[in-house]
Amino acid sequence: MAEHKVVVVGAGMAGLVSALQLAHAGLQVTVIDKASAPGGKIRQLMPDGMPVDSGPTVFTMRWVFDQIMASVGTRLESQLNIQPLSVLARHFWEDGSQLDLYADPAQSLDAVARFAGRAEAERFARFCHTARQVYDALEGPFIKSPSPTMAHMMTQLGPRGLATLASVGPMRSLWNSLGRHFNDPRLRQLFARYATYCGSSPWEAPATLMLIAQVEMDGVWTVHGGMHALASCLMRLGQANGVNYVFSSECERIEMSQGRVSGVRLASGDSLRADSVVFNGDIAALRKGLLGPGVQKSVQGKVQPRSLSAVTWSMHADTQGMALDRHNVFFNNDYASEFDDIFMQKRMPQQPTVYVCAQDRGTDTPPPGAERLLCLVNAPARGDKRLSEDELHACAVSSQARMAKAGLHLSLESSASCIRTTPQDFHQLFPATGGALYGQATHGWMAAFARSNARSQAKGLYLAGGSVHPGPGVPMAAMSGQLAAAALMADLGLTSLSHKTATSGGTLTH
Ligand SMILES: Cc1cc2nc3c(=O)[nH]c(=O)nc-3n(C[C@H](O)[C@H](O)[C@H](O)COP(=O)(O)OP(=O)(O)OC[C@H]3O[C@@H](n4cnc5c(N)ncnc54)[C@H](O)[C@@H]3O)c2cc1C
Repeated sequence: MAEHKVVVVGAGMAGLVSALQLAHAGLQVTVIDKASAPGGKIRQLMPDGMPVDSGPTVFTMRWVFDQIMASVGTRLESQLNIQPLSVLARHFWEDGSQLDLYADPAQSLDAVARFAGRAEAERFARFCHTARQVYDALEGPFIKSPSPTMAHMMTQLGPRGLATLASVGPMRSLWNSLGRHFNDPRLRQLFARYATYCGSSPWEAPATLMLIAQVEMDGVWTVHGGMHALASCLMRLGQANGVNYVFSSECERIEMSQGRVSGVRLASGDSLRADSVVFNGDIAALRKGLLGPGVQKSVQGKVQPRSLSAVTWSMHADTQGMALDRHNVFFNNDYASEFDDIFMQKRMPQQPTVYVCAQDRGTDTPPPGAERLLCLVNAPARGDKRLSEDELHACAVSSQARMAKAGLHLSLESSASCIRTTPQDFHQLFPATGGALYGQATHGWMAAFARSNARSQAKGLYLAGGSVHPGPGVPMAAMSGQLAAAALMADLGLTSLSHKTATSGGTLTH
């Protein structure tokens, strides 16, 4: 099989994982990316010359990476220094109240009791129980399934899973469902925010997305060296398995010949022959014809609205003694207006929720003086149309005011110590997305089933990344990379991703 050539277009999380596993299985793999470094959305910017994680910052579902590392004969802890956080996130409201959620459920329960009273803490405990049940019910039949359909999932759920779904009310929105769990509007808002982890509005996302809260309550980790270290680690392992990486190189066309993929053409004019291609960009680019007419109709699944974009500020700034934790959320007073602005009015939110990742925190030693921060507000995926400078400025001003109310005084003006990234910038980085960062929005009960799986309609073309099943987020994208590698291997008649080192001659069994 060593002569089977695979080109992976995109060195995002899914592309890196696919490439590593395919090369480990003995295939000849080349990864090309138009960016100058691996990671895709996992990127670092350098305000004041300091490396700031400017994409994902919340690292969850560590077990996904434990399994990936095991599949290539190593262990996560021997590759990276990963530490669990005791405080999952710190939340601030405009009325001055504040709540930390902890890795230790008992500590969270006490914190909620102090914050909202014993009865609400009991409701919180019941919510956690339900979220756990939803996660357990859906992990096998949906998240880990290579190609879930509603009918298949229903047969897989079993009586217990079906009862869990029925109790949640799958047709309900997350917002509606949370109203049945919590009396305190702040807790409803806190748990509704998890819909944004897959770029969706809590008012449109199905109640089952409460499982994201469970994922976070199962643990949040920090990666020494930043999230970028995870991408670099996967690339290093890929290199050790023979993957060839080519950066600053855009794929302009996926070539077809005699009804199947035959290679890729690069913007430089060069061509690479390939027996199979894994596409790790957003599927919107394929649908738009950016990769050529041969693969334009290759994506199955329903077209859904774009997910959220964001405006981010990567900073090196003095937080003036503010008691930040690593992950901080500054909520607004009118949560509904934020999603109405973004999804209905298609404008920057007038009252944004601001997320701040204080990247030097979460260890025992608080940072001295200036520290590295990523500030993020949700935004409409209108990066292909251009948001006006006035609109962006107004959002920066209201974000500053929101943080200042809680005592955090930051200037969100662009400067050497503050680098802004807008939906326009994200659209440039991730073509055809309008800056949408999480593929299609998960709006409506069936939306999760509208995502394409790893097999495209074009023979030899596989799909991997946040825009395909099981969806966005670093661990989910990594899983989609695994699924694409597994689909490709299965189509070659190879039964498993067995160890190259375990078979003589480095090849696989058919
Ligand atoms: C600001 C921000 C915050 C986030 N926060 C979190 C978080 O806290 N936790 C979490 O789990 N997730 C978070 N996410 C989501 C998470 O980062 C993504 O879901 C995940 O990293 C996507 O991985 P991917 O495999 O889809 O590849 P992507 O990261 O989308 O990378 C795709 C790659 O393909 C390349 N490419 C595309 N087209 C071409 C072409 N034609 N030729 C060559 N190369 C091409 C691009 O350059 C890019 O490098 C966040 C994302 C952003 C942007």
